[in-house]
Amino acid sequence: MGISGNRSLIEISGAGPAGLAAAIAVARGGGRARVYERRDDVGARFHGDFQGLENWTTRIDVLAELNETGIAPDFEHTPVNEVTCFGPNGDIQRRVRSQQPLFYLVRRGSEPGTLDYGLKQQALAAGIDIRFGKTLRKLPAGGIVTEGPHRADAIAAGYLFETEKPDGVYAIVSEQLAPGGYAYLLICNHRATLATCLFSDFHNERRYLERSVEFFTGKFNLQIDNPRRFGGTGNFALPKSARKRNILYAGEAAGFQDPLFGFGIRFAILSGAAAGRAHLAGKFEQYESFWKHRLRDFHKTAAVNRWFYERLGNRGYNRLLKHYPEGRDIRECMRRAYAPRLWKRIWYHLAVARNHTPLLNPHADCDCTWCRCLYPAQSSNT
Ligand SMILES: Cc1cc2nc3c(=O)[nH]c(=O)nc-3n(C[C@H](O)[C@H](O)[C@H](O)COP(=O)(O)OP(=O)(O)OC[C@H]3O[C@@H](n4cnc5c(N)ncnc54)[C@H](O)[C@@H]3O)c2cc1C
Repeated sequence: MGISGNRSLIEISGAGPAGLAAAIAVARGGGRARVYERRDDVGARFHGDFQGLENWTTRIDVLAELNETGIAPDFEHTPVNEVTCFGPNGDIQRRVRSQQPLFYLVRRGSEPGTLDYGLKQQALAAGIDIRFGKTLRKLPAGGIVTEGPHRADAIAAGYLFETEKPDGVYAIVSEQLAPGGYAYLLICNHRATLATCLFSDFHNERRYLERSVEFFTGKFNLQIDNPRRFGGTGNFALPKSARKRNILYAGEAAGFQDPLFGFGIRFAILSGAAAGRAHLAGKFEQYESFWKHRLRDFHKTAAVNRWFYERLGNRGYNRLLKHYPEGRDIRECMRRAYAPRLWKRIWYHLAVARNHTPLLNPHADCDCTWCRCLYPAQSSNT
């Protein structure tokens, strides 16, 4: 903090969902926040492409949870209750449905209607000072780090385009299209997002994307009008601590993201808001308790789920889809799969933890060009 007292200035690096949520929480608590964003606007690496705001990890609806956190859902959000899933060869097809939304489609980018624009407007209305085009390297007086991913545990690459095809959400699980992950097509109001999300073999990203485009265009006789490329990296790791003295780490900068499918928005907003509240109160341990209580067990369970998912391969995906009973509520199935269980906690420690390196500990012998091993001394993400 810059100066003492309740009106002290809290500096935040990164104006993604976590940073903006942190700043809004500080302002709602009566404090002052300044956010530094190295790009020229919020959401600048996206172009209005769709992402899913996950709604399956808790019984409570995510929008209600955000409201309780002080974040109004004043951005476009379209509930998704049905997803059509394809097996590796595209022949097996299952429609999975839920009574309550499985997730909400939100758009990412700088323009009105996007999640990022909505959060920015809330922050500006609360009196937050946002400095664009400013990269922060150090926080000597403390603050909150919400700089997003610092290494690539997964990458996503895709196209955003216009289409005449009606709304729908489609996914395919295939090692040929998205090793360890999935490829997807999201259509809403004649806007479409088609992408592949991979968890290995990143260097062949272009090939996987081409195959995904081929699959969806062939399957649906899709015409791709006015395409724009997007992509990015994601990291997930369970830190030992998300605090260094009076600096708190939130969102993907701390590693908070669903390790199974790479959904990070919900955890980014929740952790950002909690970091803002704790920093304002000067109770840094309160933030540690928050994420350990609210996020840690979900994270471990999802990491165990990933461990099993990676061992399925095409045969396993086929079997999983073939045997999925279409009448079952997928949200309830997912909630159960993410629910913390004792055996999953044990499995996490036995099989997963050693490969799940925390971000705040640099791993010295890595030569991967995707990594940001010298964090935080050379913080510069893509
Ligand atoms: C292609 C793609 C698809 C995705 N799909 C989904 C999805 O469907 N559902 C989901 O929940 N999640 C999804 N994610 C993940 C989700 O986007 C992230 O988890 C979420 O945005 C993390 O928020 P954050 O605020 O922690 O970080 P970010 O959104 O990455 O924001 C960090 C911000 O900090 C800025 N910054 C970085 N370094 C500095 C610095 N030194 N100084 C100042 N500013 C800095 C960056 O420019 C950026 O604006 C996807 C990610 C990608 C790349």
